[in-house]
Amino acid sequence: MRAIQMVDLKGQYAEIKEEVDLAIREVLETAAFINGGAVTDFARNLGTYLGIDHVIPCANGTDALQIALMGLGLEPGDEVITPSFTFIATTEVVALLRLKPVFADVDPKTFCLDPVSLEKQITKKTRAIVPVHLYGQSAPMNEIMELAGTYGLKVVEDNAQAIGSDYTFPDGRTFKTGTIGTVGTTSFFPSKNLGAYGDGGALFTQDASLAEIFKMIANHGQKKRYYHEIVGCNSRLDSIQAAILNVKLPRLDEYITRRRAAADFYDRAFSGHPKIRTPYRAPYSKHVFHQYTLVLEGADRNKLNEFLAARNIPSMIYYPVPAHRQNMFASFQSGLQQLEVTDWLTERVISLPMHTELDEEQLGFISNSVLEFLH
Ligand SMILES: *Cc1c(COP(=O)(O)O)cnc(C)c1O
Repeated sequence: MRAIQMVDLKGQYAEIKEEVDLAIREVLETAAFINGGAVTDFARNLGTYLGIDHVIPCANGTDALQIALMGLGLEPGDEVITPSFTFIATTEVVALLRLKPVFADVDPKTFCLDPVSLEKQITKKTRAIVPVHLYGQSAPMNEIMELAGTYGLKVVEDNAQAIGSDYTFPDGRTFKTGTIGTVGTTSFFPSKNLGAYGDGGALFTQDASLAEIFKMIANHGQKKRYYHEIVGCNSRLDSIQAAILNVKLPRLDEYITRRRAAADFYDRAFSGHPKIRTPYRAPYSKHVFHQYTLVLEGADRNKLNEFLAARNIPSMIYYPVPAHRQNMFASFQSGLQQLEVTDWLTERVISLPMHTELDEEQLGFISNSVLEFLH
């Protein structure tokens, strides 16, 4: 059996090596390292894939979130609601911009923002909501967009883990995740579903004037070179990374199919087990399984993590400390907040290997080992 990895990027590269190497060589030979044709091509290709008018590439997913919030014209002290059950970047950028992070609880089934908890956190100072499509499953966008409409809030979708997923509204309209709110952001970190071979990120919006502002912010606040209209930053997607992404984007749906097949295998293996809750698949969305995350009840997931490690099976706790309990937010005293579901999940989740290269032998060994631990 091939060694099991959390994410098998070498195996995936082997399949597309010729095309990727050629794409990289083209960039090297043209020396168009910064904002070359590959970047413009990728922005257009991704826009077509997502069905959105404006894609603004940038340096990474954290920058994408930061640029999105910078472009919305918020004032210091304005409140931005995010889940606490997420990767730190979602909420770190809020505090970085001297805005106030406010945490809402998540739904125990979807792991995404719970609209009831969300509404309770809305105050007169709330300006924006940042839903996260966690582990590859869409947040409940119908409820979130309704609340945003009622209270006049902007919505920044953190789509770093769910690119390629979609969301169907009750009236049947379906959109790709990240294209529903005011602006969507994503990351091309190598292990993400659409991963580059280095850092990368993007913002997307249907709003032409916002797109213009995001573009300026990512480029030192200038439209015309050396004429700086607003304070921005320097955040670019490398041409080499864009060239790689141009090879990988046409395969994204196939990659998602393979992830879903691995998830189906796990689901069958664990079906009906009293101590295992397999990932819920919300009927309104297509889960793209950035992670395959179990909730263990009546069993110690840390011990399972060690048991699997002894068999050279990696597993991960995403995330061991929820954002509201991180020391970086001590001044907001968010640790005093009651986020029952977030705290409950944080003690019980464990993510199994999930990527495009898992074969049945590996999946069988992983799931049998989990079952053996739980007997
Ligand atoms: C990966 C990730 C980010 C940040 O992306 P980087 O490219 O690493 O900066 C933001 N939010 C979520 C939910 C992520 O998973």
